Amino acid sequence: MVDCVDCVVVGAGVVGLAVARALALAGREVMVLEAEGAIGTGTSSRNSEVIHAGIYYPQGSLKAKLCVRGKELLYPYCEMRGVDHRRCGKLIVATSAQQVQQLQGIRAKAQANGVEDLQWLQAAEARALEPALQCEAALLSPSTGVVDSHGLMLSLQGDIENAGGMVVLHAPVHAAEVRADGISLTLADGTQLQTRTVVNAAGLSAPALARRFEGFPRQHVPEAFFAKGNYFALAGKAPFRHLIYPVPEAAGLGVHLTLDLGGQAKFGPDVQWVGSAEDLLVDGRRADAFYAEIRRYWPQLKDGSLVSGYAGIRPKISAPGEAAADFWIQGPGQHGVPGVVQLFGIESPGLTSSLAIGEHVAALLTP
Ligand SMILES: Cc1cc2nc3c(=O)[nH]c(=O)nc-3n(C[C@H](O)[C@H](O)[C@H](O)COP(=O)(O)OP(=O)(O)OC[C@H]3O[C@@H](n4cnc5c(N)ncnc54)[C@H](O)[C@@H]3O)c2cc1C
Repeated sequence: MVDCVDCVVVGAGVVGLAVARALALAGREVMVLEAEGAIGTGTSSRNSEVIHAGIYYPQGSLKAKLCVRGKELLYPYCEMRGVDHRRCGKLIVATSAQQVQQLQGIRAKAQANGVEDLQWLQAAEARALEPALQCEAALLSPSTGVVDSHGLMLSLQGDIENAGGMVVLHAPVHAAEVRADGISLTLADGTQLQTRTVVNAAGLSAPALARRFEGFPRQHVPEAFFAKGNYFALAGKAPFRHLIYPVPEAAGLGVHLTLDLGGQAKFGPDVQWVGSAEDLLVDGRRADAFYAEIRRYWPQLKDGSLVSGYAGIRPKISAPGEAAADFWIQGPGQHGVPGVVQLFGIESPGLTSSLAIGEHVAALLTP
């Protein structure tokens, strides 16, 4: 194994790969260390695969800025690299007078974030687009789409390797020691690796790993919380062409309908706070709540048509009941430790933002 590497990125999810690509394209020597035997087996393959427009996030937040920038980068990147994607658009639907008011608030927030293409639809206009839909009003977001997340990650890996970087599988990082002359990483098998720069993109495990960085101040590591999102697939064909989202709930975006690139419809994710990042089984009994929520905007949903799908876990850094935290991306300028970047709480819209997070981290590491 190499003795001293310029940059090590821990984690080959979409974010770690995008960061490694940005560093490799900037001329840095990069090695990605991934615990599992393949790239993207974590949250990056357990999400809705939606390219978000940047609508919901507080103005000026990293989520707002990196989502809008990430979307601007992602569509042309997918075009250029032949990564499968579709700009299918989405409708956010209000199903009560109170939700119509909330929808107006969402529109104002989106405008503040620089999302200028939203269209307000009266109920009849929304039904002209989607006849099966029941709503009081809707917002159409034409720039929302879906992407093949695995195709995207493979393409990022290709870019890293073409630029001279490497992705090492079966390489779980156990701990790190920050020293005056660099960082010493210890892998689970005891291998030691010296590096000048480490980016912790370990997703759900990032806070736990950061706590095993000797010499890194604990006050810069948040507590981790896990909010599972369960999905149910629709048996049969969906009568919708757009993604359909309700007005969002506190910890997620509400039980929405997404269509994958093959046209299969799924509903989710809901929000289930769990104690472990391994808790990925979908409990079929949760379908009852799904039927009730979906029928608010699609009353014709038939009994027995939802089938247990998969689950993903949001890497939360805010506790249940607290307002959602922003992405927590800190480099030497924020925490004072040379050569270290920590990425915490990279929940949605992390997939959409991935290329922009790569740019952002590369800038944090540029003197
Ligand atoms: C239910 C759900 C739905 C979502 N929907 C969307 C969406 O539609 N659109 C969107 O933009 N975003 C969405 N997201 C968010 C998006 O999926 C994530 O932000 C993104 O996948 C995070 O990528 P990551 O690389 O940070 O983490 P991960 O994909 O979890 O990757 C982390 C990697 O680190 C590895 N690792 C962990 N510990 C170690 C270690 N010690 N050593 C080496 N490797 C290690 C893991 O094996 C893993 O491969 C959703 C998230 C969830 C949970």
